[in-house]
Amino acid sequence: MNISKELDFLPDDSLLLTALIKKTYDVAKNLIDENLFTKAEIKYLEQKLKDSEKKYRIFIENFNGIAFQGYQDFPDAFFEGNVEEMTGYTEEDFTSGRIKWNEIIYPDDLERINNAVKKFYSTPINCDSREYRIIHKNGKVRWVMENIHKLYVNKKKEEIVQGNIIDITERKKADEKFRKTKVFSDSVLDSLPGIFYLFDEKGKFMRWNKNFEEVSGYSGEEISKMSILDFFKGEDKKYIAERIQEVFVKGKSTAEANFISKSGRKTPHYFTGLRIIINNIPYLGGMGIDISERKKAEKKLQESEKRYRDFISVASHEFKTPLIPIIGIPHLILKDTNLTEQQKDFINEILISGKKLNELMDNLLDTTKIDAKSIELTKREMAINPLINSCISDLAFLMKHNNHTVIKRLKENVKLNIDDKKISRVLTNLILNAIKYTPRNGKIEISTQIDVADNFIFSIKDNGIGIDKKDADLVFQKFGKIRGAKISQYALDTYGTGLGLYISKEIIKLHGGEIWFESEGRNKGTTFYFELPLKDD
Ligand code: ATP
Ligand code: MG
Repeated sequence: MNISKELDFLPDDSLLLTALIKKTYDVAKNLIDENLFTKAEIKYLEQKLKDSEKKYRIFIENFNGIAFQGYQDFPDAFFEGNVEEMTGYTEEDFTSGRIKWNEIIYPDDLERINNAVKKFYSTPINCDSREYRIIHKNGKVRWVMENIHKLYVNKKKEEIVQGNIIDITERKKADEKFRKTKVFSDSVLDSLPGIFYLFDEKGKFMRWNKNFEEVSGYSGEEISKMSILDFFKGEDKKYIAERIQEVFVKGKSTAEANFISKSGRKTPHYFTGLRIIINNIPYLGGMGIDISERKKAEKKLQESEKRYRDFISVASHEFKTPLIPIIGIPHLILKDTNLTEQQKDFINEILISGKKLNELMDNLLDTTKIDAKSIELTKREMAINPLINSCISDLAFLMKHNNHTVIKRLKENVKLNIDDKKISRVLTNLILNAIKYTPRNGKIEISTQIDVADNFIFSIKDNGIGIDKKDADLVFQKFGKIRGAKISQYALDTYGTGLGLYISKEIIKLHGGEIWFESEGRNKGTTFYFELPLKDD
């Protein structure tokens, strides 16, 4: 029997056509009593029906299955086609009621089919298709597929249905054969570096490799009776079920979960899943790799990262204490009016170095906090302009030193809900960057505005060394310094670590804002922006 031909060609349309003409004829016949149709019209319909039945007969004779029409309580009313070949009983056996179709359904399938039938009649579903086994008169079991659809409700309020039944034994055999065939050769499967599995939509296993038996501790016999979800527990079970669902819907997925062996041993695995369709039936095939080593390494790395962070935070605090006099004392000395210009310059350099070192320590501390995800904001509503002005005046001596022109265009009366210390750090870094990366006599423009979406936007534009497109990704990264970019006259910036923008970005992100920059390229200046929401949601 040519299976594919049968599956491709189901006689529904043709049957439906005949049925429709029949229905019209029935209706017309009823109406003739009420004199709504003339005799001639009825005759015409009768002729049409005969023609159609003729065509239908030719079709049925060539159809390798059974066609039926009936109603719920007596579905065997009308049976044609290859009845005898398929069941061993004649059409007459069924139409006379000597044997009922239900009586030849394989007992194990009967309950499932009866339930499906009940559901079909009790819901508005119009079509249904079922696969089940029947027992041939000669005792042999055959698989059939039944397609059924509702036609209309007759005068006695009976649901008239029509359908066809085809023999799919060969297809089922092919499926079974596939389950047993070596589509995947054992030797290949056993040489895989992990566990291999192939299961159907219900999670029932078709194939697995030796590794699967070894890792799980179950015998092949046991595995054949288990479902894939039996190998997972708790949260993982639900997660794996979702990933499997994803494979059947989208075609592929991956997952990480603990694979549980017979003795209860948990092994972390990385799983892959691919939808494989064989004989129209979808399966999931894939592999699981033991990732215990990787997990251990990850844990070690996390531990050493934590040790590193702990060291940095202790060290930076230790460094900060001696800085207090280094920054404090020059301040006092500078108040002495008897100093020469040269002495003042020296003292200033000490002060700048100290401040720079202090800033570096703050940056390192903040970075470790960001990495440990322990940075927190203490926000309050405040006017932004005083904050900007104080950051500018803290750095005014550097601008003066470089002979930078500073232009300010600040929108008045803007209040923001922010952590002032953290936002100060962002402002200071952006202003200091503009100073550092702008040659002597350059221009720095600082502006603020409110955009149409009610966001506060700060921008700082310089006409300095600019940022090349190829370096654009680097600037917001940790330790992201552009090589050879420093041409500033600001002699004391060698402490720059490349952490400033990394930290600034985190701080702005924590405030629910965004930070970005624009530059036409090398030596064409740079504008940095950040945006903060005016009101917290
Ligand atoms: P730190 O801020 O930690 O002291 P840094 O200023 O080098 O050091 P970031 O503020 O993160 O680090 O800036 C990263 C890099 O981006 C800088 O090293 C510089 O190469 C580039 N950059 C930043 N701002 C500008 C600017 N205004 N013009 C040109 N390049 C800039
Ligand atoms: Mg910086």
